[in-house]
Amino acid sequence: MYMDSRNFDPSGKTICPECGEAFFPVLGERDQTLKIQDQYPNAALWEREQLITGLCSQKCWNDHIGIGEYEEYDPDETPDGE
Ligand SMILES: [Zn+2]
Repeated sequence: MYMDSRNFDPSGKTICPECGEAFFPVLGERDQTLKIQDQYPNAALWEREQLITGLCSQKCWNDHIGIGEYEEYDPDETPDGE
């Protein structure tokens, strides 16, 4: 079982823990048998976050972890932790 800490509204939308917006993830629903980075190797970090934490956007992701509003985040500079 992979990490999925999202909250859902009654219609099945994911609720953003930062702004409270309900939305459907842009990537669609994930395959719980795969690691998300294997299922969506080319997705933006915030797109994957929609399926993990429910954060809806780069802005909410930045707000949530406490970095600048539109500060660049380059996932290529972060090791995947293998
Ligand atoms: Zn949000």
